Amino acid sequence: MSAIRHDWTREQALALLKQPFSDLMFQAQQVHRAHFDPNRVQVSTLLSIKTGACPEDCKYCPQSGHYNTELEKEKLLDIEKVVAEAQAARAKGATRFCMGAAWRSPRAKDMPYVLDMVKQVKDMGMETCMTLGMLEDDQAQALADAGLDYYNHNLDTSPEFYGEIITTRTYQDRLETLGNVRKAGMKVCCGGILGMGESENDRVGLLVQLANLPEQPESVPINMLVKVAGTPLEQEADLNPFDFIRSVALARIMMPESHVRLSAGRENMNEQMQALAFLAGANSIFYGEKLLTTANPEADSDRQLFATLGIQPEQLSVDHGEDAELDHLGQRLRDQASAGRFYNAVN
Ligand code: SF4
Repeated sequence: MSAIRHDWTREQALALLKQPFSDLMFQAQQVHRAHFDPNRVQVSTLLSIKTGACPEDCKYCPQSGHYNTELEKEKLLDIEKVVAEAQAARAKGATRFCMGAAWRSPRAKDMPYVLDMVKQVKDMGMETCMTLGMLEDDQAQALADAGLDYYNHNLDTSPEFYGEIITTRTYQDRLETLGNVRKAGMKVCCGGILGMGESENDRVGLLVQLANLPEQPESVPINMLVKVAGTPLEQEADLNPFDFIRSVALARIMMPESHVRLSAGRENMNEQMQALAFLAGANSIFYGEKLLTTANPEADSDRQLFATLGIQPEQLSVDHGEDAELDHLGQRLRDQASAGRFYNAVN
């Protein structure tokens, strides 16, 4: 088992990244297999509980109020609607339900609703995750007390490149929120976005920053920029897919116990690229039709890809007694494979 290191230098990380592709993939597979079942992928579902009109100016984001992306704005969703969506996600096999709000930070008057949402989704036996912007320590503690398992707050990119992408809050602000989340005892979901015009050194810088946090994030989403019309990054040049895969492999090697998640941008990846990402050590995906505001591959194509690759969805490690519903996705995969609706590479 590779030890968890928090003293990575950019030079060391860059040297790993620049290895011949096959060597990098082999090393990533070795680390992956030492820490995880390589044929299991964790599945999460994401719901936007408040969409658009965000005061922040993140250049990649269609929800920012600074850009005209013709995104339909929505108020904070009713709790009943959120619970119904969580039930539907659970029936489809998701084990974690992520709720995202386009806020700079939650306002005091929003907190009771948000806490109630956490309690109700948690009571259904799902893991809960939220992304609500910056958190003060008392807000983080209240969310933890309500039963929130994970808090998502991305660093997005390297400290040096960050100012090119966001000017309304600092890298240090983000680190402080991550610190508050940890202090409250929650797990951290934190990653970034590739393909925003950053250099290779910036991609390495992001991963070094994540790996050298006092505790490495339990979940590391690696997003590929989705170029949304109306955002300043609309015309950004495409990132070479192999550079994306190399970054996934580096994340796996440097953060051996973290779930590395393929997040936004997956709908633009063909099956072969997604398979390479799994081979590089990605072991988590979002499942469903929408990823906050950008399209996500259809659930059926995900099921088909899982079956083709012989991948099973990871189950919750906590004890849910007799509750068999959580095995739905696995069962559906087996049913569909046996019905001959698609080719199962395993059998
Ligand atoms: S990424 Fe989050 S904080 Fe930034 S503009 Fe979008 S919703 Fe707001």
